[in-house]
Amino acid sequence: MRILVQKFGGTSLSSNEARELVIGHIQRERQRQYGLVVVVSAMGRKGDPYATDTLLSLIRRHGDSLPPKEQDMLQACGEIISAALMCSLLRAANIPAIALTGGGAGIITDSQFGRARILEIRTEAVHKALKDGNVVIVTGFQGVTEAGEMTTLGRGGSDTSATALGAALHAERVDIYTDVNGILTADPRIVKDARPLPVISYAEIGNMARQGAKVIHPRAVEIAQQARIPLRVRSTFSEDEGTLVTDTFDAARAAVRDRHVTGVAHVSGVTQITVQAQDGHTDVQLQVFQAMARHQISVDFINVNPGGAVYTVFDHDADKAVSVLQEIGYSPKAVSSCAKISVIGGGMNGVPGIMARIVEALTEQGIPILQSADSNTTIWVLVSESYMASALQALHAKFSLHE
Ligand code: ADP
Ligand code: MG
Repeated sequence: MRILVQKFGGTSLSSNEARELVIGHIQRERQRQYGLVVVVSAMGRKGDPYATDTLLSLIRRHGDSLPPKEQDMLQACGEIISAALMCSLLRAANIPAIALTGGGAGIITDSQFGRARILEIRTEAVHKALKDGNVVIVTGFQGVTEAGEMTTLGRGGSDTSATALGAALHAERVDIYTDVNGILTADPRIVKDARPLPVISYAEIGNMARQGAKVIHPRAVEIAQQARIPLRVRSTFSEDEGTLVTDTFDAARAAVRDRHVTGVAHVSGVTQITVQAQDGHTDVQLQVFQAMARHQISVDFINVNPGGAVYTVFDHDADKAVSVLQEIGYSPKAVSSCAKISVIGGGMNGVPGIMARIVEALTEQGIPILQSADSNTTIWVLVSESYMASALQALHAKFSLHE
């Protein structure tokens, strides 16, 4: 049986009209004779009645009194509501369907509640339901431990459920349905003329996702890449086929090779920390990063030099990072509310002049670069968050990404 996994995000399920469109996408693929596994997120976004953030707000006012295991029980409810609702809608449309929880679909995870990792997927139940002719609806974002406790996979976890199921079931493809027409050259909320990319490589979208393009979760991309399963990212609200993620087709490879820059991505809410070596301290880098690790402060954008180190932490870790450094005798400088901007392109390796054009684009707008770094597929710059939107727009225009 040819299996297709379809994943529908929160906005795709948030209204009657949207759910009708979802039914249409399921019906269309069913007519193409696919065995369908439909992974659903919780309905809507923050503020909507059954969205994950809304469920969590029920307990926030009680501080941190609910242990992680019980928090996962609460968080898992949004997807369960979606799955049951979609099952009833499909049946009402005379499409045979059953709904399974993550555990019911055989998704076994470790017991890191709130950010569990999938260990294994036991596919018997899904295979049987498909063989019986059902559309199999699976709750995204969740699994179960060997001991039968519910777990959740962390933000964006439904994408991971979808590609992990796709890999375990040897699906022909995984389609991620969302509220934009595919993977765009930038976040359309910030860059209005961002354009959908017809094809993109796993490496490029993996990179964009890790650097803040939240259209798909990076872990989901890794799993699809390892299993060599093509992904499509497309809109629930149009018939447009969106973006194909693949390394396979020559055409795709050529398209990726021919462009130097594929897209821009951003992460906001970071603090730049500069630490200078003190007299008598010869091992500043070692001391600094060991101290960060000891206090579980995650660090990024690291530049070290003989005189010290510059790096970033999330704004919410900044006060802690500074006091930890002061305790071990340093006087760090902290610049909060920065944004890390990434210019990404599988074809930029060895092409001269990309950095020059980035500097040009930002200088023309009077945007100071606080820090930069590069690899063979990405150049990163750190700017003040107040310049984030104009920096993204300027870079997007400089590399003609709207064309
Ligand atoms: P879903 O609920 O369907 O998972 P998400 O909100 O997680 O939807 O992801 C879709 C959103 O990702 C879009 O609305 C868009 O604002 C944002 N986004 C950020 N970067 C990009 C990009 N490069 N291409 C497409 N969308 C992007
Ligand atoms: Mg998402």
